[in-house]
Amino acid sequence: MEKYIYGIDVGGTTVKMGLFHYENMKKIDSYEIPTPNLEDGSYIFKKIYESIIECNNRHSIEMADLLGIGIDVPCPVKNGYVESCANLNLNEINLVDEMKKYTGDAIKIAIANDATIAAYGENASLESPYQNAILITLGTGVGGGIILDGNIIEGSTGFGGEIGHIRVYEEEDKVCGCGSKGCLEQICGTKGILDYTREQLKKNESTLKEEDLTVKSIFDAAKQNDPVALMTVHRVAKYIGIAASILSMTVEPEVYIIGGGVSKAGLFLIDLITEYYKKNSRFSTGNIPFKLAQTGNDAGMIGSALLVKSLNKKNY
Ligand SMILES: [Zn+2]
Repeated sequence: MEKYIYGIDVGGTTVKMGLFHYENMKKIDSYEIPTPNLEDGSYIFKKIYESIIECNNRHSIEMADLLGIGIDVPCPVKNGYVESCANLNLNEINLVDEMKKYTGDAIKIAIANDATIAAYGENASLESPYQNAILITLGTGVGGGIILDGNIIEGSTGFGGEIGHIRVYEEEDKVCGCGSKGCLEQICGTKGILDYTREQLKKNESTLKEEDLTVKSIFDAAKQNDPVALMTVHRVAKYIGIAASILSMTVEPEVYIIGGGVSKAGLFLIDLITEYYKKNSRFSTGNIPFKLAQTGNDAGMIGSALLVKSLNKKNY
């Protein structure tokens, strides 16, 4: 009898649904549904359940054929519990219990933070996955996920791996979304990259035009040796290097994986990060490699499915 699992990536605007074969992890179906924007955020689990039933029907699958449902959400999670998730209007709620209201107890449910899940998925998708890996995602925000001894790290209340809020820049005068000043995200998130570049454009010659400035245009210009673009890109690489060197002295992973939209800058960015990382790291940790994420948009679905699969293997 064939068995199946779902890997579901819940974002602020869309929910990515993926149906996978349990044994070989082959993707059978994937599609998106809009994230409901309601005062009671828990409605999302009803929507997910209904969508699973529809998808099952399309593929002639019974609920009894499912071994698990893995879900990631854009907020800190500890054992399924979420204290606050502004993007989804969820507060003080156990998400595993919410999902089980619809699925019952027979199907295993795993729910974790999206960047942590992405780390799990990206690492598992490498040619030879590591037991100890850290993913840093560079996009609108800066996220992170830590895998140690093959397990995801949530920390004691769910903030383990919130790499974007490591304080790396003391001179910052703007306040971060978290309430602190000088977070990695303020320098390396999209807004930080654009703001810093705009500031420098006022003072320096550049081929960049302020009116059509994007992260991509900045990285493209840096590759052509534009002086302002190079300043921005070096700044990004420097502070990721510093943050990673701090992480290495804490958990010493075997690999850093760089993902998110900004990572489309490719090996150019990886090489620069590596340069600054080596300058700031000590002992043999300077040799830890940086790699580009491979699965991109599917990392959340794949990681969620793999996480719930690991629960089955441990037979929780
Ligand atoms: Zn912050």
